[in-house]
Amino acid sequence: MLKRKCDRCGKKAAMELPYGPHYFCREHFLHFFEKRVRKTCRTNKLVKPGEKLLVAYSGGKDSSVALYLVNKIFGKSNKVEALLIDEGIKGYRDCALQYAEKNCKAWGIPFTRVSFKKEFGFTMVDVMRKTGAKKKIGSTCAFCGVLRRRLMNKYAKKLGMDKLVTGHNLDDEVQSILMNVCEADLSRLVRLGPIAGISSIKGLVPRIKPLWESPEIEIIAFAYYNKIHHYEEQCCPFKWQAKRNTYRAILNQLESQFPGTMYSILSFFRQAKPKLVEKKREVKLNSCKECGEPCSGSTCMSCKKIMEFKKK
Ligand SMILES: [Zn+2]
Ligand SMILES: [Zn+2]
Repeated sequence: MLKRKCDRCGKKAAMELPYGPHYFCREHFLHFFEKRVRKTCRTNKLVKPGEKLLVAYSGGKDSSVALYLVNKIFGKSNKVEALLIDEGIKGYRDCALQYAEKNCKAWGIPFTRVSFKKEFGFTMVDVMRKTGAKKKIGSTCAFCGVLRRRLMNKYAKKLGMDKLVTGHNLDDEVQSILMNVCEADLSRLVRLGPIAGISSIKGLVPRIKPLWESPEIEIIAFAYYNKIHHYEEQCCPFKWQAKRNTYRAILNQLESQFPGTMYSILSFFRQAKPKLVEKKREVKLNSCKECGEPCSGSTCMSCKKIMEFKKK
C-alpha cells in the first residue's frame, strides 16, 4: 500500500507514477491522465474543429479508453463514431467485440461492424490454416494488419469521416521506435508519430493517436477507476507478436530500473524526426486497379497479398 499523499489534495495516494515522480488520489489521477490526452491532441493538432472522427474499436483497453476520451473531449463539437473490425478469430475477437458493442450502446456512439469474412471471403483462422502458423508468424501478423488498415481507410471514406483514431499508446510507440532503430528501418521509423503515415496523401485518411503519450499501465488504471469495461486478453491467441513482446520486456525492465526511459525515447524521436525526414517529396499515388484504394504501383499491397493467399 502506498503511504504517500496525493500531490494535489493531500489525501492518501492511490497511484504512484515513478517517472514524475507523481502521487495521486483516484480523482486527481483521472484528471492528470485526461489532461495529458487533451495536451497530446492540442500540441500535435490531431483534431481540427468540426472534423469527423472514426475510432477503430477492438474492445480492448486501449481503444476503449481512446473512444471514451475522444467522445468526452470532442463528442460535442465533432462527430464521433466507432468502427468494429472482426478478423474472424473465434474465442478472441468475437468476445472483445461484445464489449465494444456494449460500450458503444452505453455511451450512445454509433458504430459500424465489418468482418474479414464478408469483405475478403476468408478469416484470419483460414489464413492460419493455409499458411501454417509457425513458419510465417511475422508475415501473417503483418497481413492481418494490412487488411485491417485497408478496412479502416475504406470505411472512413465510406462514412465520410476525416480522421481515423487508433488506441496506440506510449508503450506501443516506443516499442516500434526501438524495433525500427534495431532494424535500421529509417523509412518506417519516420512514419511513426501521433499522426501516422503521410497525412497529405489524397485518398488516405490520416490516423491519429490520442494516447501517444499515455503509458499502458496508466490506461489500465484509467479504465479501472472509470469502470470502463473492456476485454482483458492482451495478445492475439496466435501470438504473432513474439518479436514485439521481446522489445516490450526489455523496455519494461529499463522503465522499472530507470523511470522515464520511455518518455526519453519518445522525446528523442520527437527531436530527431524532423531531421530524419528528407525534404518533402511530392508523393504521387495511383488507384489500385483491383480495389481503387491509393497505392504506389498498379495493385496495392493488400490486393497483392489477398491474391497470393487465394492462389494457395
Ligand atoms: Zn488528490
Ligand atoms: Zn487494392
